[in-house]
Amino acid sequence: MSFNKEELITLDKTHVWHHLTQHKGFEPAIYVKGEGMRVTDIGGKTYLDAVSGGVWTVNVGYGRKEIVDAVAAQMMDLCYFANGIGNVPTIKFSEKLIAKMPGLSRVYLSNSGSEANEKAFKIVRQIGQLKHKGKKTGIIYRDRDYHGTTITALSACGQFERRVQYGPFTPGFHVFPDCDVYRSKFGPCADLGVKMAKQLEEVILSVGPDEIGGVIVETMTAGGGILVPPEGYYETMREICDKYGILLIFDEVVCGLGRTGKWFGYQYWNVQPDIVTMAKGVASGYAAISCTVTTEKVFQDFLADPADHDAYFRDISTFGGCTAGPTAALANMEIIEREKLLENCVTMGDYLLEGLKGLMEKHAIIGDVRGRGLFAGIEIVKDRATKEPIAEAVANAMVGAAKANGVLIGKTSRSFRELNNTLTLCPALIATKSDIEEIV
Ligand code: PLP
Repeated sequence: MSFNKEELITLDKTHVWHHLTQHKGFEPAIYVKGEGMRVTDIGGKTYLDAVSGGVWTVNVGYGRKEIVDAVAAQMMDLCYFANGIGNVPTIKFSEKLIAKMPGLSRVYLSNSGSEANEKAFKIVRQIGQLKHKGKKTGIIYRDRDYHGTTITALSACGQFERRVQYGPFTPGFHVFPDCDVYRSKFGPCADLGVKMAKQLEEVILSVGPDEIGGVIVETMTAGGGILVPPEGYYETMREICDKYGILLIFDEVVCGLGRTGKWFGYQYWNVQPDIVTMAKGVASGYAAISCTVTTEKVFQDFLADPADHDAYFRDISTFGGCTAGPTAALANMEIIEREKLLENCVTMGDYLLEGLKGLMEKHAIIGDVRGRGLFAGIEIVKDRATKEPIAEAVANAMVGAAKANGVLIGKTSRSFRELNNTLTLCPALIATKSDIEEIV
């Protein structure tokens, strides 16, 4: 698309209200081109994108003609019809997705991660009405996790700053402690995963098991600090959920579709979820699509006499009928398979973590390096011995310095008061050794 640089900047400043931005004194950055791992700004400067479009999204990289061609062809065949009616890409994509998720069988489409999670909450609530006489409608979420931007998704938000000034929130949500190994109150111990997960049971018992119908967690906490729960954690959580008849919901909006080196992050644990939500990497940003995937058991809870007008899942999402989403998602999965991007993610992820850990020898302000696959975090501290957090301004300056050096990196959201200083790295799954070396 042609443009005039100065005019575009002026128009941006005049008309665009950017996400997460204080506009007073704001100078917009504008990107005009993406190719593979790199994006180019309006001034012609090219950056190595180590954040997959800023927020863990462009898993297969920029400029994928194959996805664009598939979407264009489908647009001419049938661009849209409301999702109550079937269409070819939705059916084919659902089949392919379910093949990667043993034990799950149903795919519900919508447009964003927030919406996919809202569907999960509605499913839990309605099952409470249909099967538990109006009980078990409450949901437990984990501190430091994020599940979306709507008021109800924020009601399940463990990130302080995202919530502040937006209440009152939806009732029926309860919080349990985070899965931060580095700062765990239990310290290093063999059964850390079990101990951490058992904190969930304490909350269930304090609220009352009859009230709780679902537990939602980001399989690995992303914006809350790149937190990978220890071994045994989700197996214990599953046992607890089974004990009290609670649905276990994994938010794979970030971790899904290969980000951590498996199709889904939960597949690193021996655990069967009841519901999995996903968005960002599903179509790598080439189209807006999200999914709420459930077991057949959850789906069957909604089967009833058609004369009962309240018993089916009475939810709709207009753009859940756009065929661009599933078409792009299908092509995205085909690329991940054909180019063996899960394998590449594991190899490059290990290489990245090794490189970052190597930096610890030189830089005492690196407190911790952690992650899984191409999902990595570097926690910056004032003092490694005491783990005293560093000022946020320092971490911000590091993000700015990386950009000045041509590499886009991220930082945890400002939601944790002092714990807002983990640098985040999530390059596309196509990253090569030389990309990783440049990032490190
Ligand atoms: N869940 C997680 C783990 C996320 O990181 C996000 C967004 O960053 C969401 C849900 C919300 O997704 P969306 O912004 O598409 O609504």
